[in-house]
Amino acid sequence: MTTSTAPTAGATSTVLPVEAEGLSLTFHSTDTTVVAVDDVSLSVGRGQIAVIVGPSGSGKSSLLQLLAGLDTPDRGSVRIGGTELTTLRDRALTALRRTRIGFVFQAFHLLPTMTARQNIVLPMRLAGTPVNEHDVDDLARMLGISNRLDHLPGQLSGGQQQRVAIARALLPQPEVIFADEPTGALDAESGGELLDMIRWAARERGQTFVIVTHDEKVAAMADLQFRMDSGVLRRER
Ligand code: ADP
Ligand code: MG
Repeated sequence: MTTSTAPTAGATSTVLPVEAEGLSLTFHSTDTTVVAVDDVSLSVGRGQIAVIVGPSGSGKSSLLQLLAGLDTPDRGSVRIGGTELTTLRDRALTALRRTRIGFVFQAFHLLPTMTARQNIVLPMRLAGTPVNEHDVDDLARMLGISNRLDHLPGQLSGGQQQRVAIARALLPQPEVIFADEPTGALDAESGGELLDMIRWAARERGQTFVIVTHDEKVAAMADLQFRMDSGVLRRER
């Protein structure tokens, strides 16, 4: 794995991988209203790594779900590679999510009755896309889980489960990968390997990353850094 010079982000095209405008999401319960995402706009260019930091409860996960089309905003627009998500029908949205978006959930969301390998290939199988098993093996090697592919999630450590979830998100080579605390369960060594891999995927493949993190090492490698506070997103650098 190598890291090289920065890509010519956005130079060949004006269509941005991630473009959101005026996103808002409010949760209502009987006696309270929480504005989880408050009029958020952001753009991320091709091959860029954007990082969102901020205190617990500030709306980071909610924003990531909106950007990935896993939840629908009350107001605002999200475009992934120029496609507006908020008005897509369910089936088209599902298809787009399976092929053009990778999502690494904070809680991994692996299926407990499937092996690591079966979990990794599942989105591509569901999308009807042929799976190259060599790609699975390469990813597993880079993530240090080659000897765990036939195990069930319950037989894996938290860090290994997290790396399976990351492999699942990366395998289809999506344009955009959203990751919620992707190093949260990793020790320093596997966390470092993951960061190398993310940098490589961004630089060499032009994949775009939006990462929610508390990890200073992740924040340090970002091209764009945002801070979220009470639902409001502010650009830091
Ligand atoms: P973060 O990821 O920064 O910790 P979240 O996006 O998970 O923040 O949550 C932002 C706010 O929205 C919090 O106050 C949280 O309690 C609230 N919230 C998140 N999801 C829900 C939900 N499904 N129903 C009600 N409130 C929610
Ligand atoms: Mg969260």
